Amino acid sequence: MTDRKERIEIGWNFNNSYAQLPKSFFSSLNPTPVGSPKLVALNRPLAASLGLKLEALERDDGVDVFAGNQIPEGALPLAQAYAGHQFSHFTMLGDGRALLLGEHITPKGHRVDIQLKGSGKTPYSRGGDGRASLGPMLREYIISEAMHGLGIPTTRSLAVVTTGEFIIRETEETGAILTRVADSHIRVGTFQYVSNWGTVEELKTLADYTLKRHFPNCGYDENKYLSLLKEVVKGQAALIAKWQLVGFVHGVMNTDNMTISGETIDYGPCAFMDTYDPTTVFSSIDLHGRYAYGNQPKIAAWNLARFAESLLSLFHDNQEEAVKLAQDEISYFAELYKHNWFAGMRLKLGMFNEEPQDKLLFEGLLNMMQKHSADYTNTFRALTLGKCEGMALFDTTEFAHWYEQWQGRLGRQKESSESSQRLMRDNNPALIPRNHRVEESLEAAVKRGDYSVMEKLISVLLCPYAYTPEQSEYSMLPPPSSKPYRTFCGT
Ligand code: AMP
Ligand code: MG
Repeated sequence: MTDRKERIEIGWNFNNSYAQLPKSFFSSLNPTPVGSPKLVALNRPLAASLGLKLEALERDDGVDVFAGNQIPEGALPLAQAYAGHQFSHFTMLGDGRALLLGEHITPKGHRVDIQLKGSGKTPYSRGGDGRASLGPMLREYIISEAMHGLGIPTTRSLAVVTTGEFIIRETEETGAILTRVADSHIRVGTFQYVSNWGTVEELKTLADYTLKRHFPNCGYDENKYLSLLKEVVKGQAALIAKWQLVGFVHGVMNTDNMTISGETIDYGPCAFMDTYDPTTVFSSIDLHGRYAYGNQPKIAAWNLARFAESLLSLFHDNQEEAVKLAQDEISYFAELYKHNWFAGMRLKLGMFNEEPQDKLLFEGLLNMMQKHSADYTNTFRALTLGKCEGMALFDTTEFAHWYEQWQGRLGRQKESSESSQRLMRDNNPALIPRNHRVEESLEAAVKRGDYSVMEKLISVLLCPYAYTPEQSEYSMLPPPSSKPYRTFCGT
């Protein structure tokens, strides 16, 4: 155990509320120690914002915490129980290879979960080894930080350690543990678990806890549980619109991978779309495209309907009334999502106000992008820079016609074209984590122990709206490949 002197030095400040919930919600256990941990990635700005001391984190006792070899004072490690619909099939899950160390209170008084991923078996491991391999943990680190840079709510990555042990996947791989930070890890699946296997009292306890933790203003609403649903619908409508606007494909939108806090979670087979195509799928197991780019809003609504179902008994004593109340909230998702997406598209195209024909302009652009296999990010980047060249799309007469209409539209608003351009810069990333860049940095790290490529990539990804000259090489597309990019989950 770390003594009090060291706790003060590192700055951990645990206060564990989840551990006070009914015992069936989790299993208390410590991480399984590892042979010889080594810190390979540390998120310094994040550590600083958490009030943690960098020098102390980099010392052996700091690293031992990230490795699960030492439990910091005040932590109460536990694996959370949850269920989930995986590719629409309902099943019992839980943290099979993760442990919540505890909730840390930041210097600003913000409560965050500190979670180890890859820290050993738990009662929910279902035959898995409880471990994670280095490549996927670094991948989560890169993509989650990129999402943060893009201004999209997400869990953050604080550190990655290698364990000094090999794990068996298709081949022997280097074991690693990721330390993840989140507003909370309460999922739609957490509610599904308690609703299915717990009592109504326990469900109320979970809902009350979640309201207090995430939506304290709703705690006194007449139907506070319906307010909970409303808030989660609102958060997800905002989140998914942000994903769509940057071309992010989550890849495994199972209900256990949807948070109540509205943060993006579980970066498994996710990737960013290059060429605009709503059917884009990266995940090797998503054979029917259930989680394709264009399906994400629909799937979010489906998941939210499962969330509403889990809460039904709390909405109203009369089942029919409860269903009606839930349906009203769920049907509101589509409207909210559209509202957010339209608002985001206006910003991407430099529009300060609304015109009824905007929808046609947006659709017109996307249809052309699809038809001419245009890169999604770079099309908006070119429009932002006012340099529409070097892409087949820009040489077509239909684009010339669209461009004229767009310019006419911008001309009718009172703001100057400079203001429009600034607005576009602030809303169109100059770069995204291109798959070949991510792979290149993972290869350098995993195969050669060279973390500099990844560090450089993360540094540019953290300010995607800066449009600095050094970023331009990161906006380049990969060399054409005959094989589609594929990603894998749970590794
Ligand atoms: P994910 O695809 O990461 O959302 O994981 C789905 C479920 O599988 C969760 O319950 C995970 O904890 C569990 N899981 C994934 N990989 C492993 C592993 N190597 N060992 C044990 N459980 C795992
Ligand atoms: Mg998951």
